[in-house]
Amino acid sequence: MESFTQKIYKWYINNKRDLPWRETSDPYKIWISEIILQQTRVVQGMGYYNRFVEKFPTVFDLASASEDTVLKLWQGLGYYSRARNLHTTAKLIVKEHKGIFPNDYKSILSLKGIGNYTAAAIASIAFNLPHAAVDGNIYRVISRYFGIITPIDSQKGKTEIQKIANDLITVKNPGFHNQAFMEFGALQCLPKSPDCNSCPLQETCYSAKSGLTDQIPVKEKKVKQRTRFFYYYIIENKNTILLEKRIGNDIWKNLHQLPLIESESELSEIEIINMKTPVNNHENVNLKSISGSVKHVLTHQTIYARFIHIEAEDFYSNDSNFIKVNKKDIYKFAVPRLLENYLNKFYSLT
Ligand code: SF4
Repeated sequence: MESFTQKIYKWYINNKRDLPWRETSDPYKIWISEIILQQTRVVQGMGYYNRFVEKFPTVFDLASASEDTVLKLWQGLGYYSRARNLHTTAKLIVKEHKGIFPNDYKSILSLKGIGNYTAAAIASIAFNLPHAAVDGNIYRVISRYFGIITPIDSQKGKTEIQKIANDLITVKNPGFHNQAFMEFGALQCLPKSPDCNSCPLQETCYSAKSGLTDQIPVKEKKVKQRTRFFYYYIIENKNTILLEKRIGNDIWKNLHQLPLIESESELSEIEIINMKTPVNNHENVNLKSISGSVKHVLTHQTIYARFIHIEAEDFYSNDSNFIKVNKKDIYKFAVPRLLENYLNKFYSLT
């Protein structure tokens, strides 16, 4: 009788997607793909991966690029710390490893931006080392199949599932094994309403047999959602517009944005009109419009943004993070998706 793992292997051979990073054993490209695919669906990540490896075919190309270039290429993918860490790590690999990707699990794990899962994925796929990579897909498959009800977001649950995954991994072909399990979780054992009737594991799967697929995996913490209110200023003077580099440890660090005021609570139109603008030193200000509220949802935050359009005869700021740019050049800067969408609409309508 076929074992649990053999059934998944067979399913994988028959159902796997053709993905560009599956055609390489180059650890650099596998690393790029794994970082892009964190928090990102394959369909969305594919274009980014292709553009990234085309622009930076080797770790030397990535290391010698400017951070702005890297962030611009990442624009729209979110979780920008991933791009900044990739860039930092590429520079370190060039400087301290002569551009050669480390080939043992511990050294890979020590690199910035690489956790247990990514280190195991790179070690197994690029170097054939038997480390079980456990991502969200594998947590789901293992907890459902074996009926693990310890919360998967608790340390106890993580350890329990990692141990089972370690016992299942084969020395013979660990990269194939990890990819087969991940793909099975991504395409067959879906988070919501998996099609258990078409699943080769149905007869022996604990959750399918007990009708618990919608209750396993168990999570103990509900993700807290933070609500934020952003007031962006479109400050124009003839062909120029003001941009601000976003510094500080917050979302979208080092990306550019329109000058921003954040408020603890939602502001009325009168409060917006009376608000001190982020750049005080502009003269002859003409308030042109205030947009309605634009909702932008991130994993842990919901942002309500409004855009205040101002024309000013002249404007400047002593803050070096503010820059005046030609309006037609704003697209050269990496900006958050929220702004990209709004500005695209704004400038094609006006
Ligand atoms: S039978 Fe259903 S719950 Fe069990 S592994 Fe297959 S798809 Fe997942």
